[in-house]
Amino acid sequence: MREERFDVVVIGAGPAGSRTAALTAAAGLSTLLLEKRERVGFPVRCAEAVGPRRDIERFLPLDDDLVSSPIDGFALVSPAGERFAARMPGIGFVVDREAFDRRLAGAAVKAGAVLRTSHQATGLLHTDGRVAGAEVTDLATVERYRVTAAVTVGADGVECHSPRWAGLKGSYRPAEVMSCAQRLVEGIDVGERMIEFHLGGSVAPGGYAWVFPKGPSSANAGLGINPLRAGGIRAIDYLERFLSRQCPGASRERLVVGGTIVARGLPRLATGGYLAVGEAANQNNPFSGGGIVNALEGADLAAGTIVEALAGGGPTARALSRYTDRWNRTTGRANKRFWRAAQFFYGLGDDAMERVIGRMRRTPGLIGESGVDPLRLLLALARSDPRLVFRLAAGILKR
Ligand SMILES: Cc1cc2nc3c(=O)[nH]c(=O)nc-3n(C[C@H](O)[C@H](O)[C@H](O)COP(=O)(O)OP(=O)(O)OC[C@H]3O[C@@H](n4cnc5c(N)ncnc54)[C@H](O)[C@@H]3O)c2cc1C
Repeated sequence: MREERFDVVVIGAGPAGSRTAALTAAAGLSTLLLEKRERVGFPVRCAEAVGPRRDIERFLPLDDDLVSSPIDGFALVSPAGERFAARMPGIGFVVDREAFDRRLAGAAVKAGAVLRTSHQATGLLHTDGRVAGAEVTDLATVERYRVTAAVTVGADGVECHSPRWAGLKGSYRPAEVMSCAQRLVEGIDVGERMIEFHLGGSVAPGGYAWVFPKGPSSANAGLGINPLRAGGIRAIDYLERFLSRQCPGASRERLVVGGTIVARGLPRLATGGYLAVGEAANQNNPFSGGGIVNALEGADLAAGTIVEALAGGGPTARALSRYTDRWNRTTGRANKRFWRAAQFFYGLGDDAMERVIGRMRRTPGLIGESGVDPLRLLLALARSDPRLVFRLAAGILKR
């Protein structure tokens, strides 16, 4: 079998992989970026919402053509249809994900990485108990070849076989993967360009439904459910029901089905010669399922650790474990809290959610200059049911 040699091989050209490859290539390391799909970023499996522009501008200059729509606030809709809305211009935007992923991969190529689309990693190579590269299939010619590398990066997203091949994790339990379905709906009034979250057991059991403005009269409307609470009904069936009620006259375009990982973080993100990044490393926010910015943050930490290890004593398990530590001190730490908050929040019954949202509507000053005021939110919870505050505190503060 043919063999090639690189300093770094990255599996997957989503945000995590492209950003990691851009940074390792920019540091002078020969970098191969593998993507099994024919086209980077296509088809899009994402609702495309991100936070404020500055969150993205840390990683990529943000040209207006990447912005599908600004987001000027958010609304929570209770199971019975009560609405808590907060106008917050600049809170985020809906990104054109296909163009965004292509731009990130382009930045990697510009920095010197070699990008190969339609090339799928089918296994890892191991030498002396360490990961030593990947086995690859060129999907166009069906040729198989080996790539040896000092470091292999698993950025293979929700499918994420590579962390399993590397021995970092086993299979997911059903509750750890939110089952999602989404359509692009056209011909609706997006009003004040708010993002909407709809809650309730009959809307999206164990999760939520969303409507995110995509253009002047279009939106990404979808939902994510916990399959264990769905009574055997598929996400796509919940979606059709939601759309019939929510946007009856709209045309339903582009269907997306897939999963997003909402598991507790992995205990280890790296081993000798290998590290996982982005969704493959469970770096998504476990409360919302969102993971674009987290993937970019993970990539920066991963690439920094790789460069440091290769300039020092080599990519041993110990050297690369600094990446796990760095993640756990930063976004990983916040994710632990989000995970506990998710266990609490999605475990509330419809009645409790109804009371909480009703109280939020009646709590003055809940939304301040910098977002939701946590103290007033706690007050709203306490007034709806004091036991909720104890349950929340016990869950979130538990180590
Ligand atoms: C319905 C839905 C809605 C979402 N909405 C949002 C949202 O609004 N905001 C948000 O922030 N996040 C959202 N997410 C989550 C977000 O899409 C992911 O967190 C993000 O894409 C993670 O980036 P990544 O680079 O880790 O993985 P990905 O973007 O999934 O990239 C992984 C890449 O690896 C490739 N690959 C996989 N295996 C191999 C292999 N063996 N060889 C070569 N290539 C391979 C894949 O083809 C893919 O291109 C949503 C997810 C879903 C399913």
